[in-house]
Amino acid sequence: MAEKILSITCPLCGRKYDKPVKELFEGADMICPLCGVKLNLHGHMWQDIQNEIAALGGATEHGSAR
Ligand SMILES: [Zn+2]
Repeated sequence: MAEKILSITCPLCGRKYDKPVKELFEGADMICPLCGVKLNLHGHMWQDIQNEIAALGGATEHGSAR
């Protein structure tokens, strides 16, 4: 089956990189391959990511959390 890829915009360097959606979950650690900054997916950033995943079209395996 096709893997869903989300473009992540790095808050530090402002560039985009691709990340498989399956690696995106609340509390996930992500490292920007462009500048090396380490991010933790939580709070409003996680909210934004969830919105972008939803916008890819398709239900998430996580379901809706509320
Ligand atoms: Zn970066």
